[in-house]
Amino acid sequence: MRCFTTITELQTYLKLLRSGNRSPASVNLAQSSFTRNHSAQSVSIGLVPTMGALHQGHMSLIERARQENDCVVVSIFVNPLQFTPQEDLAHYPRNLEHDKVVCKNTAVDALFVPTIDELYGLKNEQAGPFTHLTQVMPPASMLNVLCGRSRPLHFQGVATVVAKLFNIVHPTRAYFGQKDAQQVAIVRKLVADLNLPGQIVVCPIVRESSGLALSSRNFYLTPAQRQQATVLYRSLQKAQQLFHAQERNVQPLLDVIQQEIVNSIGVKLDYAEGVHPDTLVPLVQIEDRGLLAIAAHVGSARLIDNITLSI
Ligand code: AMP
Repeated sequence: MRCFTTITELQTYLKLLRSGNRSPASVNLAQSSFTRNHSAQSVSIGLVPTMGALHQGHMSLIERARQENDCVVVSIFVNPLQFTPQEDLAHYPRNLEHDKVVCKNTAVDALFVPTIDELYGLKNEQAGPFTHLTQVMPPASMLNVLCGRSRPLHFQGVATVVAKLFNIVHPTRAYFGQKDAQQVAIVRKLVADLNLPGQIVVCPIVRESSGLALSSRNFYLTPAQRQQATVLYRSLQKAQQLFHAQERNVQPLLDVIQQEIVNSIGVKLDYAEGVHPDTLVPLVQIEDRGLLAIAAHVGSARLIDNITLSI
């Protein structure tokens, strides 16, 4: 596995790979000239963008990318643009040595770990207004719902870093988790609207046996809070049962979720909303597909979860 910290090194590696070195392991970065037997399209590259602290959820994306591509690139970057100043940027779990082992064990070809300075030209690691940067603004209709309401700058930061990573790597496919359903919808729209290269592949949510969705932020939970947090998925499952009993109105489904969480201990609901999974438009009724998404505070962690309902 190669580990790159600069854009130039990563791009040199990918250029050599695309230019004839079909096997990622055989790329010789010291080569000054190389054969051009293969067209640029002949080597498929799978990109898995992450913020590190890798767990089984991330690994499911990497494994899928491994199955579908000649070369797998994983990026690890705790993106300051997607944290608002009062959020957990400084405390976000970081464990590069562990992440390197995970990536080696899942046969990642290239690990890209840029510094903030490398990606944004910022010496200062604090979240700020970043007024000197060009940023990508997703449509307001996709920001005024779900997590966008309480994290107004978050998805602008996500869209900006994803656009940069796509432009740097030119992936054939890029892998995202359904756990971040709003991110998935916004990234799909971003790729379509800006004609970015690459196909978006969405992977299912990986859960603990308790039902709790795996998340780097679960690291903040005490054992008791981890148990309390299982109410998130339980509440979604109750709503799903009601949907399977032919309830098509969204409000009764949300009422079930709210009731379940209000009756639980140690969990404070931020929102429970029902939207269309592609457009994120709030739904009154589910006509074809619906996304029920929730966010809740458990201890110092803000956790999210969701379920997609289809007729
Ligand atoms: P993060 O490091 O939190 O930015 O996540 C990187 C990618 O992993 C995102 O596309 C997430 O949606 C995905 N991911 C995180 N947790 C899970 C999970 N439990 N199941 C599936 N994908 C996940």
